Amino acid sequence: MSLSRPLSMAHFDMAIPHAATSIKQMKEAGTKVVGHYCVMAPQELILAAGAVPMALCATKEEPIADGEKALPRNFCPLIKSSYGFAITDKCPFFLYSDLVMGETTCDGKKKMFELMSQCKPMVVMNLPPSYEREADKAYWLTEVERTKAVLEEQFNVTITEEAIVEATKVLNAERRLVQSLAKTMQADPVPLSGLDLLKVLWSRNFVFDRAEFAAQVEELIAELEERIQKGEGALPKGAKRIIVTGVPTGLGAEKVLRLLEESGAAIVYIENCAGMKQFLTEVDESKEPLQGVADKYLATPCSCMSPNKTRLELLAQLVDEYNADGVVDITWQGCHTYNVESRILREYLQEKKGTPFLHIETDYSQGDSEQLKTRIQAFLEMIA
Ligand code: SF4
Ligand code: SF4
Repeated sequence: MSLSRPLSMAHFDMAIPHAATSIKQMKEAGTKVVGHYCVMAPQELILAAGAVPMALCATKEEPIADGEKALPRNFCPLIKSSYGFAITDKCPFFLYSDLVMGETTCDGKKKMFELMSQCKPMVVMNLPPSYEREADKAYWLTEVERTKAVLEEQFNVTITEEAIVEATKVLNAERRLVQSLAKTMQADPVPLSGLDLLKVLWSRNFVFDRAEFAAQVEELIAELEERIQKGEGALPKGAKRIIVTGVPTGLGAEKVLRLLEESGAAIVYIENCAGMKQFLTEVDESKEPLQGVADKYLATPCSCMSPNKTRLELLAQLVDEYNADGVVDITWQGCHTYNVESRILREYLQEKKGTPFLHIETDYSQGDSEQLKTRIQAFLEMIA
């Protein structure tokens, strides 16, 4: 069996290098840009306002030293990286944002956004603590309505129901397409490496034309289906099948994924926010448009929600669907919610499935790579 890489990955190799130029051209043509950090940012509203949503990555180590000038060193690297980019103008995407959308997903981010608001116009959405209680759902709807009003005022537009419905259709179609892409990873051998899957999902944030991204993903899925038919894989058949979960781990902060693949594991699903979390569920198109949007985003199974039963159930379901041999849960140092939830998740998976589970607490530096590699190799041997 030959191990190879799909030819259509060429689109995604170029997405990030091209993105800074694309956004500059869009800005010169008068397009408004809204930067956001979290998968809870309701992108339908941004599209319906005639603006372009742009994920602000915060997965690079480089700006952390600048971030630490104002923030405690023991904050999570994602927050320090976000702030470092904001105060140094090193990120063209932050620089080109007309408005930045934040969410009070954790206390560190909440306080950092207070500082960031000195750099850019911002709207910070206040999240309720749970996605289960009716009172929390009602409160979140008021936050979505407030955000809509801020977008309207900032861009001097009216966001119509029709525009929200139109944006919902586009993003729901994209969610279904990406779910189809993820399903190809159920094959053995996996037709795509986990690092390439991450590159595709990450590129989604850097290809601003939704139809263009959809066409690229369709081409890739067609090629992956051919590879499955021929038994071609990115890793050998029988490689240990691992689901990665935990904190957002995008390109630039993909150390653990790389170490897993270098150790011979096949990453069959990336549940994290930089992976599949934003594509998990659709907006219910039968609901009143703004309500549908509010409900979809609040239901995001993030550890900032308490309790967060949906994530536990989701992981147990994914273990079956992807025939996983183990789950690797990544936590950034200083992230209390994911850190505590790791124990809850371990115990849940142990009880429901007996699934081998590895918790890795790390940051964006490479200093612990050798130590992590040893732990990962020992874990893979243990599940052999
Ligand atoms: S982990 Fe939670 S807070 Fe962070 S991007 Fe994902 S949904 Fe947002
Ligand atoms: S990884 Fe944890 S601490 Fe860092 S921003 Fe996300 S929720 Fe907050």
